[in-house]
Formats: sequence, structure tokens, C-alpha cells
Amino acid sequence: MNQQLKDKLVHSLLKAGKKNKNFKIPVFICVAIIIGTYRIIGSIYGNTKKILLTSCLLLFFMISSSFASINFVTTTPTVIPEGEIVKADSAAENLSENTSATDSMQEQIHIIDDLEVIDGYEDTDISNGNTDYYTVDEILGSNQSQELTEQDAISNDQKVTFDKEDWRLVLINKQHPVPDDYEVTLGTITGNMKCDARIIKDVLRMLQDAKQDGINLVICSPYRDYQRQSVLFERKINAYMKQGMSYLEAYKITSQAVTVPGASEHQIGLALDIICDSYSLLDEGFGETEAGKWLARNCCEYGFILRYPKGKEYITSIEYEPWHFRYVGQDAATIITEQKITLEEFIENL
Ligand SMILES: [Zn+2]
Repeated sequence: MNQQLKDKLVHSLLKAGKKNKNFKIPVFICVAIIIGTYRIIGSIYGNTKKILLTSCLLLFFMISSSFASINFVTTTPTVIPEGEIVKADSAAENLSENTSATDSMQEQIHIIDDLEVIDGYEDTDISNGNTDYYTVDEILGSNQSQELTEQDAISNDQKVTFDKEDWRLVLINKQHPVPDDYEVTLGTITGNMKCDARIIKDVLRMLQDAKQDGINLVICSPYRDYQRQSVLFERKINAYMKQGMSYLEAYKITSQAVTVPGASEHQIGLALDIICDSYSLLDEGFGETEAGKWLARNCCEYGFILRYPKGKEYITSIEYEPWHFRYVGQDAATIITEQKITLEEFIENL
């Protein structure tokens, strides 16, 4: 707005206001509007660059957030009825009931195995600094003062009875998550490697005896807290979603390979993922190694069972994991191993 024009307008308005008292208020308002408008236009002219920059930033922000919302829509599960609260577990079950669509989807989608996500110990805790790598010599060396005697061996002439309340037999799976009030007293195997304090002697005995048989076992996932389990789980889901799966589809496949947070035996300190120094991958191939065979054959002597055996996936809901061992005590472990049953079946028959 021209400066002169503004002055003229203001001047004539003030004049009119002086002449007629009734015009005083409207004149005052008009003058204020004119001066205000002039100031605004003036400041726009003076800050053209700033305003342009702000507009560009605003535009960029709007565009990027609109892309984010498109992404969100495509990855949000659509099978959940509106207004219904569905837990993650039951949502996955809903999906599995809807099999035809999901199965054809699974056929098209390439299943990620651990090798492809990150080299080596993808789902283990030593791959990402959560737990340090210790050789069997380091572990045994740091526990030299421990007297590694056999604990609860079965005696032949004694009838063994089991109690469902026995801490060693606590069932943890998707249907039986870790109870909120579950308390575990952790003990240190060595360094930052921890598990339930009550099983450490048996763990050490197993490592020691395997070593005597020429097998150097490596514990790659000991106790793991809820948060850590969540990180592993979400990472796998994200990897599947990058392949184009919806969240629910990714959830379903992930839950077959990585235990759902809250349903992992690692959280109660009674499970260990064990491999060996000559085979460092968590895959089916480990079951074919000398170490894998030694563990499957002998773990029960130290109170452990191979928790997710081949052919029992329909019971455990977890794929075959020749590296995942669960402590149940020597008596139960011997029966479970000899009868080739799962912990679920063993507990059901108690
Ligand atoms: Zn495990």
C-alpha cells in the first residue's frame, strides 16, 4: 500500500471524525484497520525470503505426513472388527482361521530365515551386545570354585512323583504367558550371562561334560527380559513388513519363529539357546552337528529338554529349534526325552 495514500485516508477519516462526534468510534476502528493492514503488508514485503522458506517447509511437512498416513493404512490390520479390542495373540489366531487367503499369501512371501536378516547370530543375544561371547573355558574357568555334583538323579527303586506347582515345570507358551507376579532369582553363569540361579550347576556340568567329549558348547541366549524379547520380535515383524506383508501376516509368521514377548521361556531364566564354537547359526543345520546331536542325546542328564522338537510344531506352535533347551529338572527331562514328548504333553498327563 502506498504510504501517501494511507496518510491521506487516515487524515480525511480523522477530519470526518472531528466534524461529527457520532463518527468518532467508526473512524477510530477504520484508522486502526488501515494502519494494521499497512503494517502487515509492509512486513510481508520486508520478509519475502523468510515467508517463502516457511511455506516450503510447511508444504514439505504436509506432503511427507500424508505419505506416512498412506503407509499406516496399508499396514494396519483390516480383519479386526471396528470397535473391538483384540489382543495381539487372538488377532493372530483370527488370521490363522482365515487360512485360505493367508496360505496363498505365505506361498508368495519368501520366509526370512535368520541368515538373511543379519549374518550369524540374528536372534541371539551375543550378536547385539546384550550378552558377551564366552568360550566354554572362560565359563568353566570363572566357576572353578563350584562343586559340580549331580543333583536330583532318578533312583531306580524310588517312584518319582511330579507336582504341577514345581518351579521347574512351569509351562510358558503362547497360551500360558509369563505370570505378572513371576519372580526369578537370577544367578550369573559368567560376566553378564545370567539364568535362574538354581540351574547354574547343571548348566556348568553340561558344559564340562560336553567339553570332555570334545564338544565346546556356546551359550548364545541366556536369560532375556521382556524388553529384549520385544525388540527381537518387532525386528522380525518389520523385516517381513518390508517384504510387503501386513502387520498381522508378519505377526503370524514371526510368532512361529520368535517367541511372542511375554511367552518366552528365556524370560523366566530356565531356557538357554546353545550352539557350539564350530557352528554358529541358529538353524536346523545345528541339529545335524556333533554338538546338536550330543545335546539332544544328553541334555536330559542335566535337567534339560529340547523344547521345540521336529514334528511337534502343532503342539508347541514353534518351529523346530535344535538349539533351544529348557530346564525342567532331571527326572522330568528323562521321561520327556525318552518318551519323545513335549512339555505340554507331559504336563497334561500329570
Ligand atoms: Zn531360545
